[in-house]
Amino acid sequence: MSPESKVQTTEFDELMTRRALELAARGIGQVSPGPLVGTVIVNARREIVGEGFYLYDQTKHAETLALEQAGERARGGTAYVSLEPHAHQGRTAPCTDALIKSGIKRVVAPIEDPNPKVSGRGFAHLRAAGIEVCSDLLIDEGARLNEAYIHYVRTGRPFVHLKLAVSLDGKIATRTGDSRWITGEQARARVHDLRHQYDAIMVGGGTVRADDPLLRCVEDRLCASLSISACEFLRNRNLHKPRMKGP
Ligand SMILES: [Zn+2]
Repeated sequence: MSPESKVQTTEFDELMTRRALELAARGIGQVSPGPLVGTVIVNARREIVGEGFYLYDQTKHAETLALEQAGERARGGTAYVSLEPHAHQGRTAPCTDALIKSGIKRVVAPIEDPNPKVSGRGFAHLRAAGIEVCSDLLIDEGARLNEAYIHYVRTGRPFVHLKLAVSLDGKIATRTGDSRWITGEQARARVHDLRHQYDAIMVGGGTVRADDPLLRCVEDRLCASLSISACEFLRNRNLHKPRMKGP
């Protein structure tokens, strides 16, 4: 067994990794096309001394924000990051440099960043600097959180989420097309969550002509303030914008 294949983790590690994933999720709807990243810094006495998460409009990454908060208290501690820290010079300096400089002894992150510029290099850079790296905790949760980013980076194609209002017999409309409001309050709230979460909303031309749905997101004000807003894509058979009602 290679020394890096099995690094011991504890329940505390799992708890802190979950916290890093929770922090990362605060960026939902704002980080695209980048990944969701959250970081928790824990000192040698297992006290949280720094937390951060990534937002697109901020130039600093989650790791850097959390390390700045922790300052000297990071020395000898552990960094829990929701995704492999980046090791290349991009829009910001490498987060691996910041982690190494901070005196962190250990980094726990569920998964590698599939971005070819990062993939495996972040962990390798940290290990080369003598930092213990653990990357086999909450793998599924880590991958699920960034499923849209991972899909986009691996395939170059957008991650598509199909939303349908379906009756118990598996139908989406009656023969006459009379299908409004078969969902309840809870489902509609979930739809607004999804609209906030995705960069674009696409509906069929037939839906526009029949329903002319208001495709806004209740959190549009928040989206707009971060200069990323859900766009409305309208699609019919010929990819022409269907005739809209009203002005
Ligand atoms: Zn970074």
